[in-house]
Amino acid sequence: MRKGDRDKNHRQHIGYRLWFAALTVILSVAMLPYPGGSSVWAQDMPTQTVQDDAGISSVNSGSDEDRPVVIVIDPGHGGENLGGEYGDYTEKDMTLVVARAMKEELERYEDVVVYLTRDGDTDLSLAERCEFAESVDADFMFCLHFNLSEYHTLFGAECWVSAFGEYYSKGYSFASIEIEMLQELGLYSRGIKTRLNDKGTDYYGILRHSVERDFPCVLIEHCHLDQENDDPFYDHGDKLIDLGILDATAAARYFRLRSTELGVDYSDYEVPQIPVPEYTVAPDKTEPDISMIEVLDQNLQNGDVTVQVSGADYDSGMLYYTYSYDNGENFSELQRWPDRSADTFNFTMKVPPRIIPQIVVNVYNGYDLYTTSNMVSLPSMDYKTEEELIAEQAQKEALESASKAVESVKPYTAGQTDVAQNRDDGASADEGNKPVSFGYFLAVCVICSLLLLSVILSLVLFGRGRKNKRRRRRK
Ligand SMILES: [Zn+2]
Repeated sequence: MRKGDRDKNHRQHIGYRLWFAALTVILSVAMLPYPGGSSVWAQDMPTQTVQDDAGISSVNSGSDEDRPVVIVIDPGHGGENLGGEYGDYTEKDMTLVVARAMKEELERYEDVVVYLTRDGDTDLSLAERCEFAESVDADFMFCLHFNLSEYHTLFGAECWVSAFGEYYSKGYSFASIEIEMLQELGLYSRGIKTRLNDKGTDYYGILRHSVERDFPCVLIEHCHLDQENDDPFYDHGDKLIDLGILDATAAARYFRLRSTELGVDYSDYEVPQIPVPEYTVAPDKTEPDISMIEVLDQNLQNGDVTVQVSGADYDSGMLYYTYSYDNGENFSELQRWPDRSADTFNFTMKVPPRIIPQIVVNVYNGYDLYTTSNMVSLPSMDYKTEEELIAEQAQKEALESASKAVESVKPYTAGQTDVAQNRDDGASADEGNKPVSFGYFLAVCVICSLLLLSVILSLVLFGRGRKNKRRRRRK
């Protein structure tokens, strides 16, 4: 921050305080019946990239001034305050590892002074953390956290910023860099957001206290500890250190620092410039405006149902979706919205056979609020599931091997004739049961007809003999 700017900022600071007092009254009266009526939305703020040096000084400070940039890193929680706990992870320990790595990395840059609010397992109040940052004249405070959600469903990274004035624009500007880098790492972005309490001031105490003490602050929720989507991004060591280095690099870019040691120079880095909002940047409190589905295809052979989803939220954009084939009795896990700049996309779901599929989708906005779509009922499908096919195959194989076992035992069973037993191993036991051949049948027929012929012949001769006898008697 430039020296000239400091006096200006002090005057602005008094101005802000008056403004906040007025704002609190206005908010409590005016905002309740018309929530967000005259507000802009955190997700909707246009981002501009600073092209020239002239514009940057009001947003960023320090890198090219006689006074070094002062950065305060606040590892969330500590002491009795454990923060989130999941499995063998405890947030207060993780944030300290990240914070130390961030400090170490930032100290490789020139013209920067870095402090930690705690460098041990100390329990500090939010006010104490901010008092410390104020005491060292911080240009920015970065609060490091890890997240958990009530139902262990949410995943991804998010940044919380103050809803007010320059604290908002500076916070959002840094958070844009931070979130983009976390996304490059593979984390899903849950956005850069504001949250207000009942009094209409910042919900998060650390942001509220930092505004009161006049320095920008960002609360970084790196990822969720209780959802498998985020599992690959943290551990007890190296991955936390990598997150610390990432946070440091984001800060170095924001303050356009350079490092001879690292061989990097961010002095020309294009920092996103966020206009200072005139009004409170209120959080989105309404569900998505549009949630509609259409079934594009139903594959009766394998149960694949292709669904087109249309969802839109004009305040905070779309974040996740979930789907159900039993009219919302059960929903899938949260899915990433494939392209946040598009309202419509297709996806394919697997529907089990022999039920009447009733497809519905929930679409979620940037504040995790959802709207349920229309329901589409489909004809039942009578296909075999993969499990059934596997079971069937296994059954078939079992039967085959059982019958083979029986056959191999057959020649030695009591039912077999001596002839079969005397045959050599190459001759199958089946030979005994061979169907009668045509030649054999023909021979039998010939013998039978010869026998029949001779019987007829002898009967005729016998008959004649008797006639002659009678004739001779009459004579
Ligand atoms: Zn936390």
